[in-house]
Amino acid sequence: MHLPNLLTKRLLHLLGDHALLTDPADCLAYGYDNSRRQGRPAAVALPTEAGQVLELVRACREARVSITARGRGTATTGAAVPGENSLVVSFERMDQLVAIEPDDRLAVVQPGVLNGDLQQAAAAHGFFWAPDPTSAPYCTVGGNLACNAGGPRALKYGASRDNVLALAAVSGRGEAFRCGAATTKSAIGYDLARFLVGSEGTLALITEATLRLLPLPEARTGLRALYTDTAAAAAAVARIMAQPVTPSALEFMDGAALKLAREVGGADIGAGGALLMIEVDGRRDALADAGAAVSKAAHGQGLIELAASDDLDTLWQARRKLSPALRTLAPGKINEDVVVPVSRLPALISGLDALSARHGIPIVNFGHAGNGNIHVNLLHQPDDPRHVKAAPRCLADVFDLVLELGGTLSGEHGIGIDKRDFMARALDTESLALLHGIKAVFDPDGILNPGKLLPLSGLGTRDSGLGNARG
Ligand SMILES: Cc1cc2nc3c(=O)[nH]c(=O)nc-3n(C[C@H](O)[C@H](O)[C@H](O)COP(=O)(O)OP(=O)(O)OC[C@H]3O[C@@H](n4cnc5c(N)ncnc54)[C@H](O)[C@@H]3O)c2cc1C
Repeated sequence: MHLPNLLTKRLLHLLGDHALLTDPADCLAYGYDNSRRQGRPAAVALPTEAGQVLELVRACREARVSITARGRGTATTGAAVPGENSLVVSFERMDQLVAIEPDDRLAVVQPGVLNGDLQQAAAAHGFFWAPDPTSAPYCTVGGNLACNAGGPRALKYGASRDNVLALAAVSGRGEAFRCGAATTKSAIGYDLARFLVGSEGTLALITEATLRLLPLPEARTGLRALYTDTAAAAAAVARIMAQPVTPSALEFMDGAALKLAREVGGADIGAGGALLMIEVDGRRDALADAGAAVSKAAHGQGLIELAASDDLDTLWQARRKLSPALRTLAPGKINEDVVVPVSRLPALISGLDALSARHGIPIVNFGHAGNGNIHVNLLHQPDDPRHVKAAPRCLADVFDLVLELGGTLSGEHGIGIDKRDFMARALDTESLALLHGIKAVFDPDGILNPGKLLPLSGLGTRDSGLGNARG
């Protein structure tokens, strides 16, 4: 795995030898993401400014070498895993907070700024950026934008796409451009900035982002509601969303996730079939009324206990530990983040129970129920031959169920490699053809993150999505 000599020379001249890694051992550390796939890039570039990004894309286009942009490699879908003989462009050194402008309620950042660092800087001015993935302390704004990352707060405040104003980027054509505007209103036709959000590094490399900031709420309060079973909790979610107060978080855990949160996360929660963690924020003097409205909606059949939670942080910490804990239970865990309309949550949860029983694969569910966004965890044991056979079919059936319920494949993790070949089920033929056409306009030679997001064979064929790149 080598870059062509001429390209290596050009990149060394552009970046300097401390900013171009070519030793395979160094490069390996830039070849994985949280999908457990491992790629072996030929080299890693560490640019510090947008001009270098522009020149390196031009050089790679001329040499027909593909590029995978990288934030911190926390994507769960293989989106950040480079192909053989490719160049990884890591944005870790483009980590400057350019400006925070409270008057205009915006922040300007380089793409390598960590989400958590941005939140801290914005908080000092009384603001926050809405996307709050659990990985916030170690994922980048560039990665958040490229995956349209969300988190619990997306329910009330939106995900990355809803909170971007303008972007500077370099297309696969090797041209720099700016799109969007530093204003909260704009009506000048096609919205390229929001279009780039969720494009997983396949259209352009983002070199600067202007982000919409929101004022920090004065106060917040929490409730936890324990139900006899998942159907009762799912029905409560639908009732809560049918009344006017939008919670700032409405998280769901099924019985298995709840048990884990108690045992691994140390949360002090009683036994039950499902739990809702509900958070309401806003003005201090309005909080009691808002909390009462949500609490009224949470009451209903199957409610065991509804309590004000004065220790929300412990509960959130337990919730954050769920995903890593599940991987220790099932090393081959398959974590999907499907979405259905909230009214279809009861049908989703009962359908998942049926699929788990039919395929003999335990399924643990938790997630951002207020958005209908459930993290479906198939506890796949790779050393069990029955699981190896059943898991791909079970996964395909999960996606079919979600699509039948009017839902979609991913709420926040994106498509990457893992779900690429299911796109043909989720989108109609014309939509897929249009997406391929757009890709060709931004990236005529297909050098940007090839093999991600769009089905490989033009309009795509179905496969299991459990491809051979998984390590
Ligand atoms: C423990 C854990 C918890 C998580 N929780 C959540 C959650 O609650 N919500 C959520 O939404 N996600 C979550 N994620 C997923 C992940 O953290 C997000 O998708 C995050 O946005 C990825 O950021 P990153 O910097 O690691 O990007 P990477 O993984 O490095 O890259 C992700 C994608 O972005 C592209 N990219 C990166 N930088 C750029 C750029 N400058 N220009 C163009 N493309 C670029 C890459 O090519 C790749 O396609 C979680 C992951 C983990 C491991």
